[in-house]
Amino acid sequence: MAETNAFELIIDSANQLDGLPESLKSAAAEEAKAKGKDGKWLFTLQNPSVMPFLQYAKNRDLRKQIWEAYQMRGNNDNANDNKEVLRKIANLRLEKAKLLGYPSYAAYVLEESMAKNPTNVYALLNKLWTPALNKAKGEATDINKEIKAEGGNFEVAPYDWSYYTEIIRKNRFALNEDEIKPYFSLPTVREGAFAVANKLYGLTFVALNNVPVYHKDVEVYEVKDKDGSHLGLLYADFFPRASKSSGAWMTSYRNQSKKEGKRNAPVISIVCNFTKPVGDQPALLTFDEASTLFHEFGHALHGLLSNVKYKSLAGTSVSRDFVELPSQIMENWAADAAVLKEYAKHYKTKEAIPDSLIAKMEKAGTFNQGFATVEYLAASLLDMNYHAATTPIKGNINAFEKESMKKIGLIDAIIPRYRSTYFKHIFEGGYSAGYYAYIWSEVLDSDAFAAFKEKSLYDQPTADSFRRNILEKGGTGDPAQMYKTFRGADPDPKYLLIKRGLN
Ligand SMILES: [Zn+2]
Repeated sequence: MAETNAFELIIDSANQLDGLPESLKSAAAEEAKAKGKDGKWLFTLQNPSVMPFLQYAKNRDLRKQIWEAYQMRGNNDNANDNKEVLRKIANLRLEKAKLLGYPSYAAYVLEESMAKNPTNVYALLNKLWTPALNKAKGEATDINKEIKAEGGNFEVAPYDWSYYTEIIRKNRFALNEDEIKPYFSLPTVREGAFAVANKLYGLTFVALNNVPVYHKDVEVYEVKDKDGSHLGLLYADFFPRASKSSGAWMTSYRNQSKKEGKRNAPVISIVCNFTKPVGDQPALLTFDEASTLFHEFGHALHGLLSNVKYKSLAGTSVSRDFVELPSQIMENWAADAAVLKEYAKHYKTKEAIPDSLIAKMEKAGTFNQGFATVEYLAASLLDMNYHAATTPIKGNINAFEKESMKKIGLIDAIIPRYRSTYFKHIFEGGYSAGYYAYIWSEVLDSDAFAAFKEKSLYDQPTADSFRRNILEKGGTGDPAQMYKTFRGADPDPKYLLIKRGLN
């Protein structure tokens, strides 16, 4: 698929930059300079440029301009238009599925997932849709009030949402990142994650200095089981470098396996890109980064606790709608008030994070979740509509998309997280009939965490069952059955709705 990045928003007077943070302004000035437009400011359709622009720019006309270009990517009836290409992709996928004896491409893709078929995926997405849409409508009402309060004479449009949401967020929560960060120094968060694994599964982590590493920043830990036996090695590479990819992930240098009854211990690594420590101050993380550490550590536990015969089925070798369960469930402990009190200690005073700050973080956590859930679900349903079709898609792709959104009653102020012509996940990446997997996993982790909370945070029989039935099993069983064995029931989406404040 081609994508046009030709659009540039060039601003030549400083008063049109009202509201934008200094860092964004200087990045835009540098971008302009690089293009020979010294003294001006240049914004592009790249996310780090367009997203903060929509969030902070006071000038509504300019927000509208850049947003319109953004959501028309690949949809301008020129040489880079993607509409025909993606219709062909969808139809060829259907043809392939039919040759293999499946009624649709989604039926073919989903056969080996936890969801198993398109009906189950639609059932979950539809269950979440109505409460999410209702919440989003409430958020739109709040935004319209704010617009009126400012003297505006219009209803919220998609290019207003982010801007007014930011204003409301500031008014309501006054949550300052700099107030939070001292409680989340990297050593504190890392030890917090280790402590949770210790309380749940009895694991201990011993720093090793005699193991080869590929960079001096890399830390290595020997992971020991409850009885002191060797479970595996955990590498941690936390800081960015010029040659390193961005983002965060878990990877495995050696998968666990068994040969002639002997366990080959896994060698697992987690990689992040946290802000480096400055001077003698430790690296101070945002709460998002702290959650990321717990998340990747959860994937690592999946790899480390694996107890299967074949390395190809070890640890995270499971279907996409199941693989985020072990990682995302750890984020629940990271955010739990009682756990925060245990690990989130001020790096200087060693005092635990105050209750008032936890309360603020909790409130801010469910803010704007109507919007976030709706734009995500709209994209997931669009993905399913392309791939669950049992006859070829005919006619214009814009009409197909419009009809899909009309059917679910999407409001005008919100568009799908990805419109068809730039929905890379499903037309270029491996997420065709799979974009739903993110929220499917979140239903699982919310429900699984509820299994603990119903008893206690570190309930030993529950932890044991999670370890034996999920973490140890890798890809050796049917994920739906494995889950049911752990929980004694199918996952209930109500816990996700509660977590996102959509109940
Ligand atoms: Zn993950």
